[in-house]
Amino acid sequence: MWKWNATHEEKEDYRELMRKKVEELSCSHEECEDYGENGKGNIVFVRKYGAGETQNLFKCKTCNKTFSWRKGTPLFGFILNEEKILNVIMCLVEGNGIRTTTRIMNVDKETVTRILKAFGEHMKAVYEYFMHDYHMEECQFDELWTFIRKKENNLSELEKLIAEFGDMWVGIGFDSINKVIASLVVGKRNEELIDKLVGGVKKVTDNHIPLFTSDGLRWYEKKILKHYGIQEKTVRTGKRGRPVKPKKMPHPDLKYAQVVKQYKKGKVAKVEFKVVFGNEKEGKKLIEKSPVSKHINTSFVERNNLTLRENNGRLSRKTLSFSKETEGLVNQLWLFMGYYHFVRPHGGLAIGVDAENGRKRWTKRTPFKAAGITNRIWTLRELVTFRIPPK
Ligand SMILES: [Zn+2]
Repeated sequence: MWKWNATHEEKEDYRELMRKKVEELSCSHEECEDYGENGKGNIVFVRKYGAGETQNLFKCKTCNKTFSWRKGTPLFGFILNEEKILNVIMCLVEGNGIRTTTRIMNVDKETVTRILKAFGEHMKAVYEYFMHDYHMEECQFDELWTFIRKKENNLSELEKLIAEFGDMWVGIGFDSINKVIASLVVGKRNEELIDKLVGGVKKVTDNHIPLFTSDGLRWYEKKILKHYGIQEKTVRTGKRGRPVKPKKMPHPDLKYAQVVKQYKKGKVAKVEFKVVFGNEKEGKKLIEKSPVSKHINTSFVERNNLTLRENNGRLSRKTLSFSKETEGLVNQLWLFMGYYHFVRPHGGLAIGVDAENGRKRWTKRTPFKAAGITNRIWTLRELVTFRIPPK
């Protein structure tokens, strides 16, 4: 940290740090010919500035203009130093709530909430910038609130995060091959939410209709038909009176199966697939080959345990209003979404290549790398300071 009374040596150390940092930076002036491109050696560190000298000023040698490292990023407007902000974000995306993060990071609650909002919105914008015309072979609809009663140490970060909140439902449309979350909705579990969930998948995908799977919740069939059905031609009945309302028919390529679980003593004894749309034989064959069948078997949670939730103070606390709580959860989920798709390699996505010594060498991948949306694993800093190019 650079202080106003820093010694000459401390300032030199800092300059050295900045010389490394400029490699990650690009010029933020749109009219500059090196705008948005890093690693070209055109950026130099000038000095510290602002209240408490917490902000860094850089200069682009191509256009001769200066810019703040934070300008155009959600870091702008925060006095807190960047390292601390990144650590707060790390803490939040690892599934810690605001209160825990406040305690661990020794930052006040208001700052954590502000970080959550600014960076949650940023992550959403970056995700949406990259997520379009997505090709998805399989889409699995999942309801995440059912996960929250798993033993604490078996919870993934996303599940932990959801468990922090009360009576809320999170639905995802999940690509079971590349592990990309293509649609995410939060709120009360109702028909409207399922509509948004299914519509969300349609919005970001290309013309290919993925193979859909879900649990037995009745709204899925209706909403999948709404978004992926084709209008049936009206047939004149010849009779008088009101014309028959045209019905939607499933698109010939539409395949949708429900997962039917049979329970025995609170445990899944059998998993069966009920083909709703599409050829039954063909549908079952597809599912057998797909990673979805394995995933469903392993991600099961004992439903009986859901009743325990009432006894858990943390889960049933209702101190915040529903909308306020939803907003907090949405921000935290989006923070997670950014980190999940760009930064953290997914265990199930590593590819093993046979090495010379007879062993396998593993290449790590994030969901967006696996999907070909980006060609590398990003650092959290890169993601946080990514400037979305103007349209
Ligand atoms: Zn420039």
